[in-house]
Amino acid sequence: MQVPPFSLQKQLSQIGQELDSAVWRVINSGHFIGGEEVKNFEKSFAEACNVSYSIGCNSGTDALVLALRALDIGPGDEVITSSFSFFATAEAISNVGAKPVFVDVDPINYLLDLRLIKQAINSSTKAILPVHLFGCPIDMTELVSFAREKGLKVIEDCAQAAGSRWGGKSVGSMGDVGCFSFFPTKNLGAAGDGGAVTTNDPELAQRIRQLAVHGMPRRYFHTEVGYNSRLDSIQAAILNVKLPLLPKWIRERQQIAEQYNDLLEGLPGIELPFSSVENDHVHSWNQYVIRVKDIPYFDEIEEDNSGQAKEIICSNLPNSKARDWLKRSLEEKGVNTIIYYPIPIHLQPAYKELEFNSISLDNTERLCSQVLSLPIFPELTIEEQEHVVNSIRQLVQRK
Ligand SMILES: *Cc1c(COP(=O)(O)O)cnc(C)c1O
Repeated sequence: MQVPPFSLQKQLSQIGQELDSAVWRVINSGHFIGGEEVKNFEKSFAEACNVSYSIGCNSGTDALVLALRALDIGPGDEVITSSFSFFATAEAISNVGAKPVFVDVDPINYLLDLRLIKQAINSSTKAILPVHLFGCPIDMTELVSFAREKGLKVIEDCAQAAGSRWGGKSVGSMGDVGCFSFFPTKNLGAAGDGGAVTTNDPELAQRIRQLAVHGMPRRYFHTEVGYNSRLDSIQAAILNVKLPLLPKWIRERQQIAEQYNDLLEGLPGIELPFSSVENDHVHSWNQYVIRVKDIPYFDEIEEDNSGQAKEIICSNLPNSKARDWLKRSLEEKGVNTIIYYPIPIHLQPAYKELEFNSISLDNTERLCSQVLSLPIFPELTIEEQEHVVNSIRQLVQRK
């Protein structure tokens, strides 16, 4: 049996027809930029996130850039964020000319450690950019109250967390701005790139909207240098079909995560992900990420020295042999997993000119050498899940 890490094909039996007619509706209308589909999507997405405004844009990365620019964050400013994230989180900060300042993550939930933020603040700090990584919401009550006290802005990276909630409230509705991605593998995926920015502030919303179309409040009148970053009509039409299904898909992801929790419990050397499901906190499970620690009998296993990029780049990362061996052995059994993320952002070659290489983020670095994302998507069957778990069991319990 082959189990893919992710599949969009299986959705087609549910919504293929609807997607087909939605795309043709746009093509027949000849309206490819803006129009009703985009307007309707922005309205429905704002409702789904309990915010006053949602502005479509080209990608989650652009959503972050637009949010930072709209908050006047640029050269000379520092933004506190996590190094255990997709590269775009920090890339957006660098691209507006500001400096990402990395703070280590909590080893339990893999999210920005709020206790460490205090030490990273100085007079240049303008904002905190938390990531609701893998769909797990960060404690927004504490984060927002701390940021307000220090006069800092909060930009939420919700790229992996459409459908997540903290204290009953949608992510992207509690900070100053929320940034979403509709990249195909996210909880709400388009058929290409797409993104959205959410906010309750009318002035910010207006500024973001203008920045996304060349800083142009009126046709051919440009008040600042902006971007060409729109959610196109075909993507909006696809998202209009999918958005109503998001709550159902999140429930299915939650069920899969619960089943993994049950089936994997007690396996030696494997640590299960933090499950924040109490008190109106909703984890949307974009990824189900285990930590591979000491696998018993691993010493007997021959080591593989196949040149992984990270060994060349940053030899100071903790060794990832147990995890890499498990990943490879699972592949042989048809179980395809992914490593989110093998190299922390602060050790990426792109940042080698900066001083980040000299900072040490122990939890982040250890996670990068231990994490493994198991297959999870709403249509994953129980048989497929059992195959994943039985394969892991056979590998870690062999005598
Ligand atoms: C996917 C992702 C982004 C970027 O979104 P794109 O739509 O691919 O540009 C940003 N941050 C995180 C945490 C992501 O997972």
